[in-house]
Amino acid sequence: MVDEKIVRVRIAPSPTGYLHVGTARTALFNYLFARGNKGDFLLRVEDTDIKRSREEMVKSIIEGLSWMNLDWEGDILYQSDYFDDYKKRGMELLEKGYAYWCYCLPEEIDDRKETIFKSGKGWIYDRRCYHLTDEERKRFEEEGRPKALRFNVPQGFTSYDDLIHGKIQRDNSQIEDFVLIKSDGSPTYNLAVVVDDYRMGITHVLRGDDHITNTPKQILLYNAFGWSFPEFGHIPLILGEDHSKLSKRHGAVSLSYYKNEGILPEAFVNYLAFLGWSPKTEEEIFSLEELIERFSLDSIQIKPAIFDIERLEWLNGAWMAKLGREEVASRLSEYLYNNGISERDKDYLIKVIEALGKRIKKFKDFLVRGYYFFSDDFSYDEEGAKKHFDKGLEEKMKKLIKQLKELANFDENGLENVIRNLAEELNCKASELIHPIRLGISGVTVGPGIFALMGILGKKRVIKRLESLVEYLKGADFEY
Ligand code: GLU
Repeated sequence: MVDEKIVRVRIAPSPTGYLHVGTARTALFNYLFARGNKGDFLLRVEDTDIKRSREEMVKSIIEGLSWMNLDWEGDILYQSDYFDDYKKRGMELLEKGYAYWCYCLPEEIDDRKETIFKSGKGWIYDRRCYHLTDEERKRFEEEGRPKALRFNVPQGFTSYDDLIHGKIQRDNSQIEDFVLIKSDGSPTYNLAVVVDDYRMGITHVLRGDDHITNTPKQILLYNAFGWSFPEFGHIPLILGEDHSKLSKRHGAVSLSYYKNEGILPEAFVNYLAFLGWSPKTEEEIFSLEELIERFSLDSIQIKPAIFDIERLEWLNGAWMAKLGREEVASRLSEYLYNNGISERDKDYLIKVIEALGKRIKKFKDFLVRGYYFFSDDFSYDEEGAKKHFDKGLEEKMKKLIKQLKELANFDENGLENVIRNLAEELNCKASELIHPIRLGISGVTVGPGIFALMGILGKKRVIKRLESLVEYLKGADFEY
């Protein structure tokens, strides 16, 4: 436990995209750290970029965090509610001499940048407007030139002890006079984040390594405001399997995708925890409560984490086993319902889960591999039909239907007897009946054992589907 200090952390997503796996992982680490230290976990929506922020994304953030069961304290803070305040804070820095107006037009900066690049040097803003004379400034104001407020970075060094990386020091001469208020009046990320972390009483800022270069800038701002700064910890980035930063190129990176695929939130949370953290043992399955107990910042790794979908699916399977059939059946029922299928018979669902067994890695697989368990509305696999449907089949199926109607015990044994006896009677191999039956009642050529499958689907459904098959065969053209 972090001693004495009250822990207050936050997750601060920008609603310019759907909740990203990386943000979800950062949220989880903050949540675990807060809960493990009896602290607060807060949510702030960083929607200062009005043009790119979308209500739909805010919804996706809220839904995603709720799905993972990461509950936050109090109201959500929306940065768009505080525009006037950021401006006021900017003006405060201007008055104290920590900031100045910059009238440089983007194209002017581009020209100067190019000259610097040509000379083989790197560009940081050349402080031209810091050196303006009063007269020049007056002229720009009269011209109505757009202006941005820049921070006047002092000379010296900025250092802090990163909770994960240890001591970090930067030479301020490498930090450009960054913008605080843009020419459209909106605040930049660095200004808003400092003002709000202070406003919200944040004690620890845990965020992705991609923000590590922002931290010295933010510390300089805290100093300018005369505020003490929180502790900072930067967690390793998540990379794709090719070791480049995880992005859409690697497949789905939004949380909603995994939810829609039917990954259990427990498995997802368990998986995310391992993206940068390790229990330092061989244990692999952790509930949120167990993670709270075990999580600590000193077991966060420095090296980047690799996103591995197979491991996520493996963990999902392990969680399905851990939750047990009853619970999985009721979650499956809910998942199916959200996908337009109403199936509330729990016993039936349990049988389906057992029958598909290891073929299932996530709930979506029930739709992909076992759609026929929930709907009569399927077509026959084309290749399979070519292979297994022929002219003589109609009569065979009619006989089968007749016998099935008379079968009292519609179970695995009873069904096996009927089909094997019928094969004998028709003087054909049992497989010559089994393949077309499977195709007829499921539309596909692979699946659970046929007698078990028929038993699970039940008499009514099997007969109805075989009758549809007979209808189909009547109209089929067996030229092939
Ligand atoms: N809105 C920033 C992001 O999504 C927050 C970074 C921070 O935690 O300071 O990356």
